[in-house]
Amino acid sequence: MTNLGRVELTGCGHADVRLPSPLEEVDDELLREHGVRLLLKRDDLISAEVPGNKWRKLHPNLRAAHGQGHSTLLSFGGAYSNHIRAVAAAGRACGFSTIGIIRGEEHLPLNWSLTYAAQQGMRLEYLDRTTYRSKHTPAVVDGLHERFGDFYLLPEGGSNALAVRGCAPIADEIDEDFDAICCACGTGGTLAGLAAGLAPTQEAIGFSVLKGGDFLTEEVRRFQEEAGVVTDNWSIETGYHFGGFAKHPPGLAAFIEEFHARHGVLLERIYVAKMLAGVYDLVARGRFRRGSTVVALITGPAEGT
Ligand SMILES: *Cc1c(COP(=O)(O)O)cnc(C)c1O
Repeated sequence: MTNLGRVELTGCGHADVRLPSPLEEVDDELLREHGVRLLLKRDDLISAEVPGNKWRKLHPNLRAAHGQGHSTLLSFGGAYSNHIRAVAAAGRACGFSTIGIIRGEEHLPLNWSLTYAAQQGMRLEYLDRTTYRSKHTPAVVDGLHERFGDFYLLPEGGSNALAVRGCAPIADEIDEDFDAICCACGTGGTLAGLAAGLAPTQEAIGFSVLKGGDFLTEEVRRFQEEAGVVTDNWSIETGYHFGGFAKHPPGLAAFIEEFHARHGVLLERIYVAKMLAGVYDLVARGRFRRGSTVVALITGPAEGT
């Protein structure tokens, strides 16, 4: 498969990209008790500016945008979107202008996430929540072209066929035998690509961070179809949303604190902590047979680290 470390974009300053991302073993009593080996695939360390799955998903798109002669990227997201920050930073590093279409009304002063995006040179525009819901329809997109001219459109969350293909080589970077690889799911694009890159005996498990995550099964299948990489080696856990998107109950906070104290890794709380708490619960329930090796994909860094 492609060596992502050598992907180059004309005019793109990705000198800090660290690939393959490190693999770290976690030693824990619970894991030993159940005979499970747990490895963290530290994609959060790929790059400070465009970390984790955001880099995996964006870099093939930026290359396509460049190849098609676009000079502007436009995308959508909420007021705290990791994807919006990543687009702003990647656009700046690679010489694109960026436009962020933010859900809802403008609130001033800007929060830390939008402040960061603006500092990267992103132009911020706002869509009322009703229009935002139909943001990917031709009517809305045509309207955006009328206002902003030519741009390369990245869907909300950045998941499209190229993004899915960008996640496929993750498993290839892991030079240890493993049985299952786990990741958090927002749109499901990362899981779709991750699963596509596995060996026949391996499985991918996604953890929905949204309440009512059953819809993700159809989404992941659709992403795989669009990318031309359909596999049946993945499943989605829908019981670890901890109350819904961006919800942060005390039980989750305690898990983050304990993991940090034991292993020195501060977990990102919207996605990564829910996935890993889910992995620990599955281990405790005997989901993984004794002697198996499980990889947890750390898709992004904790806020402010
Ligand atoms: C965006 C994001 C995800 C969600 O990835 P999808 O491909 O949309 O499922 C997971 N983890 C982190 C840290 C993210 O920022």
